[in-house]
Amino acid sequence: MQKQSSGAVSEVLIRGSLITLKRKCGKPTCSCADGEPHATPALSYSVKGKTRILTLRSSDVPTIRQALHNYKVAAAELEKKAISGIRRTTVNIMNAKRDA
Ligand SMILES: [Zn+2]
Repeated sequence: MQKQSSGAVSEVLIRGSLITLKRKCGKPTCSCADGEPHATPALSYSVKGKTRILTLRSSDVPTIRQALHNYKVAAAELEKKAISGIRRTTVNIMNAKRDA
C-alpha cells in the first residue's frame, strides 16, 4: 500500500538525479581561490539521450527531492502494471494455443 503524505506537496514528477556542482568562480580574492570551491545544487536529467543540467537554489532541493521520489514511485507502479500485462497476455496466449 502506498503511503499518502499528508502535505501540500503536489504530485510533481521529476526524472533525474540531484548533483552538486563544484566550481571556482575565478575571483582571486574569493575564499574559493585556495579553499573549498562553491557548491551549487543541480538537477541532472536526460532528454532524448542528452544529459542536461539545471542549477537550483538550495531552497528548491527539498521540493525536487520529493518530485524525484514521486517519479520513482510512479515508475515502479507503471512497471508493475506492465509486467502484469505481460503475464496476462502470456497466459492468454498459452491458453489459446492449448485450446487450439
Ligand atoms: Zn569564489
